[in-house]
Amino acid sequence: MSNIVELECLCGTVKGNIKVVPGAFFHVHCLCCDCQKFASHLNNKNNILDVHGGSELFQTYPKLMNITEGQDHIGAVQLQEKGIYRWHTTCCNMPLANTMRSAKIPFIGVSVKLMKFGSEQEKLEALGPVMIKAFGKHSIGEMPKDAHAKFPISFMPKIISFMLKGMLNKMNRPSPFFNGKETIVSVNVLSKSENISL
Ligand SMILES: [Zn+2]
Ligand SMILES: [Zn+2]
Repeated sequence: MSNIVELECLCGTVKGNIKVVPGAFFHVHCLCCDCQKFASHLNNKNNILDVHGGSELFQTYPKLMNITEGQDHIGAVQLQEKGIYRWHTTCCNMPLANTMRSAKIPFIGVSVKLMKFGSEQEKLEALGPVMIKAFGKHSIGEMPKDAHAKFPISFMPKIISFMLKGMLNKMNRPSPFFNGKETIVSVNVLSKSENISL
């Protein structure tokens, strides 16, 4: 049974919805340094990261996400030239989602902060528990006990099958962030050299 969850940024300007389809998502917790750098870039770490520097992501297919209001308050950055696209709001500097650089790839990692739930219980019922806590080696302070130091290789077959299903069923489009091959706004590269500007 699919479930539609409303999306809304912190200030309420950007709104939308997402379809939660059983078997078509990963509920993950990412502790990687890039997610932390992105939060620093947005100058909004307190609203974005947990005490360990982690971000909660709902990874699914672009076709399942809609943005219905506030499209003119969307920006995007890449931490490095080859990095993924990190979409965010420009009204309240909150992450929206991560995508690959190609509109062909049926993958989107939506910020769970954007998803509106009445309670933690409601969230648990909709998304289930976190399936993977990854990149714990970048944790702020001690690594949480249930985190993997890197990305667990044991998850790769599930991800490959998710990608194949997504490609077969053309779940890459429509995407809220691409018009055909083009991005809806230009993507700003934060660092063209080795130095990451925070
Ligand atoms: Zn990350
Ligand atoms: Zn906002």
